[in-house]
Amino acid sequence: DTTLNLSNASVEQLQEWKQQLSAEYDNVLARKLNLDLTRGKPSAEQLSLSDAMDGILAGDYITASGIDVRNYGGLEGIPEARAIGSDILGVPVENVLAGGNSSLTLMYQTMAIAHQFGLAGEGSAWSQEGTVKFLCPVPGYDRHYSVCEHLGIEMLTVAMTSTGPDMDQVEKMIAADPSIKGMWCVPKYSNPTGVVYSDETVERIANLGNIAGKNFRVFWDNAYAIHDLSDNPVALANIFEACKAAGTEDSVIQFASTSKVTHAGSGVAFIAASDTNLKFFKLALGFMTIGPDKVNQLRHAKFFAADGALSAHMAKHAAIIKPRFASVLKHLEAAFSDNDLGEWESADGGYFISFDTRPGLAQKVVKLAGDAGVKLTPAGATFPYGKDPQDSNIRIAPTVPTVDQVEEAMQVFVLCVKLASVEQALANS
Ligand code: PMP
Repeated sequence: DTTLNLSNASVEQLQEWKQQLSAEYDNVLARKLNLDLTRGKPSAEQLSLSDAMDGILAGDYITASGIDVRNYGGLEGIPEARAIGSDILGVPVENVLAGGNSSLTLMYQTMAIAHQFGLAGEGSAWSQEGTVKFLCPVPGYDRHYSVCEHLGIEMLTVAMTSTGPDMDQVEKMIAADPSIKGMWCVPKYSNPTGVVYSDETVERIANLGNIAGKNFRVFWDNAYAIHDLSDNPVALANIFEACKAAGTEDSVIQFASTSKVTHAGSGVAFIAASDTNLKFFKLALGFMTIGPDKVNQLRHAKFFAADGALSAHMAKHAAIIKPRFASVLKHLEAAFSDNDLGEWESADGGYFISFDTRPGLAQKVVKLAGDAGVKLTPAGATFPYGKDPQDSNIRIAPTVPTVDQVEEAMQVFVLCVKLASVEQALANS
């Protein structure tokens, strides 16, 4: 129950704390736990919310406009599925393509196409301009970074703030370096910080196309667009409208999917973009596929056909996730609200809570927890090239374990942070 005020503690006090915490840690080791807070996946309970999609077509494979979804074709997806994407992203149906099961695939394809062929026709390929760089707000989503790394696109980091990426820094970097061809954004319930971009941030991002070099494209990954936990969610400003107002329609490409709405492995993914971007995306896509899985698209359309069905469904997800988030926050508050051992923000949606240890301790904490049977996302994963310069960020993903498991895992997590912090303070004393 003591406040761990490390800065003012005597060496004797630190040693006493270390002894107590080490004894507690040994007790945990003896329990041989096997808990996992690593990946942002829905729990089985959440997946089950969508099981009624199975068999929902009941032999009727024809869409309202007469498309037989069993057959080939329809590169941009069936109208009913595109309408779901239009709903989620707030973009006209004509500017939405409904694809396969993964928005990550669409992001990879978009980046590969922009790089090799260009999204504005002849002469617009990034590869023709030499070095290609991308801005990455940190901490962020590891799979975004892997896409850039795989395609040989150099990543530059920019700090996340409570209103989104540090826009002063973003504007300065982009104005100074035309080889920066874009920026990754998770604008709502950002992975992992949970931040929702402010209206001003959205407006300034929409304006980047006016100050950047040629063929600049923001990858607006709205993976958590409808994944609210609060009854009164913050609204994200509409970037499509903001771009129209700024005359930069081509500079932002949006993505979303139903991976964390229906079945994570068999949802429907969406890309939304200007006419020009979509035209050149489809041109290249047509060489990769004859069309998406329209049967699955129609299943989704039927499942969400009723007015308000989608938001009612998301409320069921929230009811399952909320107690897990609450447990994480409860433990963090109890352990760290009266000391400076860690910082975090409470997220009102999404799949993560981001925690910052004192500098230099994230790897240590992840190792201590792992040895005690609580798996955490590797420290550094939330930064390009896996390198957190401060070694302080840890991503907590509480959706898969049960509430009881989250409780148990968080007790261990808190203990590991305390132990690592006290040991560091002792070493520095
Ligand atoms: N974007 C973000 C920000 C994510 O967190 C995730 C999943 N963790 C994805 C994309 C993956 O989306 P999909 O399943 O549609 O490929």
